[in-house]
Amino acid sequence: MTDKNENLKPAKPSKVEKAKTEGDLLRGTIDEVLRDESVDKFEHDDLQLLKFHGSYQQDDRDLRKSRRAEGLGKAYSFMIRIVLPGGVMTPEQYLAVDRIADEYANGTIRITTRQAIQYHGVIKGNLRETMRQINEALMTTLAACGDVCRNVMATAPPFQDAIHTRIRETANEIAADLRPATRAYHEIWIDGERIVDTKEDEPFYGETYLPRKYKVGVTLMGDNQMDIYSYDAGLIGIVEDNELAGFNVVAGGGLGMSHGRANTFAQIADQIGFVGLDDGVAVIRNIASIYRDFGNRENRKQARLKYLINEYGIDWFVEQLKERSEFTIQPWKELPETRNEDWMGQHRQDSNHWFYGVFVENGRVKDEGDFRLKTALRSIIEDFNVGVTLTAQQSLLLTHIKDDDIAAIKKRLSDHGVKPVEQLPAAIRYSMACPAMPTCGMAVAESERASPEIVRDLAAKLDSIGLADVPLTFRMTGCPNGCARPYTADVALVGRRPGIYHIFVGGRLAGDRMADLFAADVAVEEVIPTLTPLLNQWSKDRSADEGLGDFYQRTMGRRDPRRRVTGKEESTIEQFNSQLVQLNANAHPHSTSPPSASPRTTVLPVLPMNGQQSLTGERT
Ligand code: SF4
Repeated sequence: MTDKNENLKPAKPSKVEKAKTEGDLLRGTIDEVLRDESVDKFEHDDLQLLKFHGSYQQDDRDLRKSRRAEGLGKAYSFMIRIVLPGGVMTPEQYLAVDRIADEYANGTIRITTRQAIQYHGVIKGNLRETMRQINEALMTTLAACGDVCRNVMATAPPFQDAIHTRIRETANEIAADLRPATRAYHEIWIDGERIVDTKEDEPFYGETYLPRKYKVGVTLMGDNQMDIYSYDAGLIGIVEDNELAGFNVVAGGGLGMSHGRANTFAQIADQIGFVGLDDGVAVIRNIASIYRDFGNRENRKQARLKYLINEYGIDWFVEQLKERSEFTIQPWKELPETRNEDWMGQHRQDSNHWFYGVFVENGRVKDEGDFRLKTALRSIIEDFNVGVTLTAQQSLLLTHIKDDDIAAIKKRLSDHGVKPVEQLPAAIRYSMACPAMPTCGMAVAESERASPEIVRDLAAKLDSIGLADVPLTFRMTGCPNGCARPYTADVALVGRRPGIYHIFVGGRLAGDRMADLFAADVAVEEVIPTLTPLLNQWSKDRSADEGLGDFYQRTMGRRDPRRRVTGKEESTIEQFNSQLVQLNANAHPHSTSPPSASPRTTVLPVLPMNGQQSLTGERT
C-alpha cells in the first residue's frame, strides 16, 4: 500500500504549504510568542500553524472603526475549538467547559455544526492556561482546525445497542488513527519543554500534512442528521439481519465556495461503494492518503478533496483507492428513505434511562435575561450527573437520565426560561446559523446575530399559512464558506455583503441534494417578501408531508437532484414563478385569479427521481 508519495511536490507551493514545511512539525515560534508578554497577537507562519493546535486569531470587527479612529490597533482575541469525536462528553468534561468559558472566554459556549465546542474571546495571555485546563479535563484542541482530519462526527442518539456503539467506536478509531503524531502540541501547551533527544516523525501526514481540511462523519442508514454527503469522506452503517454488516462509503463532498471565483463549488459526495465492518477506519485513511499525495498544494481555493476528484475523475479515484486497499470495495448498497429525526425532546435510551434533546439556538449556550440556558445545563449536570452529546444541528442531548430524574430535569429547564421543543415553531427548531460577525474574519454579512429575527419572521409567515409545524430547514451564513451547511437546506441565506444575501432554495433535511440559487443579492428586509409567493403556493399545493424543498423541486420539474452548486448560476425565481403561472393556468383554465389566490390542488406532476432519492420523500 502506498503510504506517502514523495514524488508529487508542488511546483509553486502556497504560503501555507511553506509555513508547514518550515514549521518544524507545527512548532513555528508559537512557544516564543506565547512567552513574549509585550505582544497581543501572532504573525505570519505562526497564524497558520496555530490552527492545527485548535485556535484562530480573530479581532472584534465591531470595534475596528472606533479603535482606528482612536489610533489603536485591532482588538485581538482567539477562538479555541475542542475536538469531541461524535460530540460525546462526560459530565465532568461539560462542567469543565462551562467553567473555562466563564474564566477565560466570553462567558458563552458555542456548539458547532460538527459536534465540537468553540470558545470566543480568549486573550493571548490566557491561551496557554485555557489549553492546559482543557487537556486537564481529558479533552484536546489538537487538529480541531488546520490541514488534518477534523473532528470526526457520529450519529448522535446515545443508544447503547451494539449497532450504535460500533458506530461511535468507529468514529473514535478514525479520530485516533488520523490524529497528528507531533509532540509539538504537548510541548507548547502542556509540558512547556521541547523534547530534543530523538528524531521525531509524522508517519502518516509527513511534514506538510494534508492540502487542506479533511472532514469525516460516521452515520447509520436512514439517519442523515449530520449531512454526511457534505463531507470529504463518510461512512454510512448498513444493517443486515439486525447487525451492522459494514459501511457504504462516500467521498468528495464539501460546502465551501467563493463568490468571486468561477471554479469553486459546493458539492454532494460521490457514492464510492461498500466495505466490510473491519475496513471502515482503513478506507477513511486510504482516502486521506490519496488526498495527501495528489491534492492541490499550490492553490488553497482548489485544494479540497472534491476538486481533486473533479480534476482526475471518479474512476481514477476509485482505482487509486482499490490499489491502496487490502480489502475489497464492493458495490454500493441501496439505502432506505432517510428519517428526519433531530432527537429533540424526550426519548428512551435503554430500559433504565432516558435522553433529552435540548434545542440550542445557533449553538450558543448562554444566559441572557430570563433565558438562562447555561445556568440550567450546569445545574442539571451537577445535580443529576448526566452526560452530554452534541448534535450536528448545534443542539445537545442530555444522556443517561434516570427514570426518577427526567421530570425534575424538564422542570429545571422550564424554570430557567428554556422552552421544550414542542413549543417551538418548526422553522426555529430546524434553523442553524454560523457565527459570522463580529468574530469571523471571513464574514461579509451578519449571520448568528441576524438569524433569530429573520427566522421568527419566517415562522410567523408559516404560521399565517397554517404551516407552523411542518419541518423546514432554514440556514444562514455570513459568507459562502458554508459552515452552517446552507446549500443542503430547504431555504438558506448566504451573505454577499452587509445586509445583502443570496437566497438558496431546494435542499431538504435529508441532506442529499443541493439547493438552487433562487434569488440573488436580496436585501435582508426583502427576504420574506421574496419567499412569500413560494411559501403561499407550497401551503396550497403541497402533497401530504411534502417539504418546501421537495415542493420546489417538483414545481421546477426536476428529474435529477442537483449535486453541485456554484452560486454563480442564473437565479431561478423567474423560472419558478412562470412555472407557477403555467401550472395554475392549466389547473384553472377559466380562472382570472393570480397564482397566489389559487385553491389547493394536486395538479403538479409527480416526477420520478433517480438514485437514492424520492421527490415525495416523507418528513417525519
Ligand atoms: Fe465565517 Fe463564513 Fe464560516 Fe460563517 S460561513 S463562520 S462567515 S467562514
